[in-house]
Amino acid sequence: MTTINYKSTRQEGHNVSAATAILTGIAPDGGLYVPTRIPKIDKTFSELAALNYRQLAVYLLSLYLTDFTEAEITKAVDCAYDDKFRTPQIAQLETKNNTHFLELFHGPTLAFKDMALALLPYLLKTAAQKTGQKKEIVILTATSGDTGKAALEGFAGVEGTKIIVFFPEHGVSRVQKRQMVTQRGKNTYVIGIEGNFDDAQNGVKAIFTDPVLRQKLAENGYMFSSANSINIGRLLPQIVYYVWAYLELLRRGCIKTGEKINFCVPTGNFGNILAAYYAEQMGLPVGKLICASNKNKVLFDFFTTKIYDRKREFFVTSSPSMDILISSNLERLLYHAAGENSEQVRAWMEDLKTKGSYEIPAETAAALKSFAAGFATEAETKASIREVFEASGYLIDTHTAVAYSVLQKYQKETLDGAPAVVVATASPYKFSKDVLCALEEKFAQVDDFALFKEMEKISQVEIPAPIRDLKERPVLHRQVCRPEEMPQVVSEILGL
Ligand SMILES: *Cc1c(COP(=O)(O)O)cnc(C)c1O
Repeated sequence: MTTINYKSTRQEGHNVSAATAILTGIAPDGGLYVPTRIPKIDKTFSELAALNYRQLAVYLLSLYLTDFTEAEITKAVDCAYDDKFRTPQIAQLETKNNTHFLELFHGPTLAFKDMALALLPYLLKTAAQKTGQKKEIVILTATSGDTGKAALEGFAGVEGTKIIVFFPEHGVSRVQKRQMVTQRGKNTYVIGIEGNFDDAQNGVKAIFTDPVLRQKLAENGYMFSSANSINIGRLLPQIVYYVWAYLELLRRGCIKTGEKINFCVPTGNFGNILAAYYAEQMGLPVGKLICASNKNKVLFDFFTTKIYDRKREFFVTSSPSMDILISSNLERLLYHAAGENSEQVRAWMEDLKTKGSYEIPAETAAALKSFAAGFATEAETKASIREVFEASGYLIDTHTAVAYSVLQKYQKETLDGAPAVVVATASPYKFSKDVLCALEEKFAQVDDFALFKEMEKISQVEIPAPIRDLKERPVLHRQVCRPEEMPQVVSEILGL
């Protein structure tokens, strides 16, 4: 097997091993790590169809983590995908109302972030061992709600690590916030930001690339890493479930080998759908990757006009994990689409930072032809929740509903009848208020936690164990700060 290294999207000639890329999270020049080559799937689909989720994960990850042994990958995968997932299949495909829903929310925090964040701590620890890295790893994370809890859950109590999470104080659901501020574990720190997700993410990126802070950190025996999807170790595990979904459709006889399928992905930071792009580049038969946005439709505008423009009003919506104006992982896609031209990517990112926008040329846009894009308004999102529930008794969350709505519109407009999978990224319990209000306005008056019982009755799906006693759990984290105070807060926590 040929070695795959990782290089920055913003500079040539700086290649590192997978272990180093995962450990450091972001390249020193502020670019994101991408594989020097995207490996091809080299087994037949009938061979792959015989594998369970864990075996498939080991196979696909081995193609990318060429500096890890198979035993190391197997151990990490077995620790990650164990009985903290409430379905033995890990991911679950449900067909309702003539649509396939790929449920990725059966992990400990009820959102798809668990699919990668259950594994990342093990990949990081292995990477530290392999590279002889003895420093304590400080995981710095900005969250729009779901990453934070999934990362806290993944890293709580993991020896040799501390985890610091910044979340928008007024930009997450009550359940999301409660999940985070009740987090146990001596190595966990949770801080609200008086700002939105982009402020939190920019703050974290700035801390990462601050040479003075880095120096102080090193002197004190610490190093930073990231649990955000800027870390390639977050992205790679997400490729697995796209391949798994394809195999599941094959196993159920819904498609023939080689038949192309579409995926519709509710998108924020562009990490999830980028993993689908990697799966396609590896040889998965994909027709269209449909990028679904909510009212913050910066990506829809980008795919339809070739102009990425973050200078616009920011909306807080019922799908908060998609309330993002700077989709970090688009940088990786642009790098590949622009023929791996790092100078060009650096210029675009500089424009985004200084002018607030950039425009890609026609030939780059042409390389994005496997993407389609759509968006759903708040009213359309609600209507989708209602429509699916009334047709099939199946309750979807607000993010999944955005994707469902976008898929319906896409199919109507294009008459593309290829089998389509909606990526279901969160349990409806996580957004109980907005989901139930989509069915009946009367729930607006009811306490979010009291709604769990209502939802259980209505959906006939048991309240998931990890949130059953959420309301009773003590609040352990109360700190709030302004975005510009983030470096200071980090310094205080670490005693720098
Ligand atoms: C994070 C998240 C998204 C967006 O995923 P990206 O990888 O950031 O595009 C969508 N839905 C839910 C529930 C999420 O937690």
